Amino acid sequence: MRKLKIGIIDFITKSPNHSIWARVMHANFMGIMPQVIAKWSEDAGHDVQYFIFTGLEDLAKDAPRDVDMVFINAFTQSAIQAYALSAKYRSEGVVTALGGPHARCYPEDAVKYFDYVMGITDEELCRDVLEDCRPHRPVGVSLSAKSSPKYLPGVRERWKFISKAHEKTTFLIKVVPMIGSLGCPYTCSFCIDANEPYQPLDFELMKDDLRFVLTKIKRPVVSWYDPNFGVRFEDYMNVIEEAVPINSIDFIAESSLSLLSEPHLKRLRQNGFQAVLPGIESWFDMGNKSKTGAKQGMDKVKVVSEHINQILSYIPYVQTNFPRIPERGKGSRVPVPFP
Ligand code: SF4
Repeated sequence: MRKLKIGIIDFITKSPNHSIWARVMHANFMGIMPQVIAKWSEDAGHDVQYFIFTGLEDLAKDAPRDVDMVFINAFTQSAIQAYALSAKYRSEGVVTALGGPHARCYPEDAVKYFDYVMGITDEELCRDVLEDCRPHRPVGVSLSAKSSPKYLPGVRERWKFISKAHEKTTFLIKVVPMIGSLGCPYTCSFCIDANEPYQPLDFELMKDDLRFVLTKIKRPVVSWYDPNFGVRFEDYMNVIEEAVPINSIDFIAESSLSLLSEPHLKRLRQNGFQAVLPGIESWFDMGNKSKTGAKQGMDKVKVVSEHINQILSYIPYVQTNFPRIPERGKGSRVPVPFP
């Protein structure tokens, strides 16, 4: 395979944004898969330029240049921007690939603007695309691995990309993205993770990564990117407790209300969890994942409110989520700070 110059572009936001929030937080929302693709590309012998767009940059000047191929990661909200950038690269002879939530939710649209549209992606699929690396126009190819990868490079292997993203926030908050599982046992109809069977990732790798992070940052903030953190609750708490001194890392996780029982909340607090993001999804449906059974309307509001207040007595920050139907993908959920 010839050695390629690869650009990796992670769109955190959809347009220029110089707000204080963007300066403090956008870089901390870096994606894991763009870093994984960067690592797999380097492992395949290619040169990689990794770039995250936080809204502070000038895309025309700052995006990777002098490349043979770019991989762009985008939510649907940033799809138009991704399409435009792809058109610019293609006009310069660069092969383009799209991954991320928009590629998984709307491949039939994205193939009109990219040479490759990548759904579920494992290392084999990544290598196949790198080996092929040629224009597919006017309609690109939509590709997907048969199943989610069984292994993803951990924090240690992704550290140089994580550090590069951290350079973009001059503030003290530097969040480290980790992932402990893929897929979800629930079946929320709007969610792209609902069709993926739940699978935990390597527990030993997680322990090593937690220890590694403590050598890099004095009091790290680790955000778990699991679609639904804590499905195997005991296992994940054991991983944390065996790997690092108690309450030495601040954690953030997206989880279900059904997993946030009082005994679990006690253990989460003990282990340093500072923020949880449960999905309520609907006041009229999905009672199983919010542990509200058949309750609807005001009845469900009351039960959920009591539960959220209980969570807030253990965890300082709670953000609840509702989907913005009919868009697809978790990227279209609306965060609602509580209270
Ligand atoms: S919204 Fe959450 S609970 Fe529902 S399928 Fe997706 S990850 Fe699972």
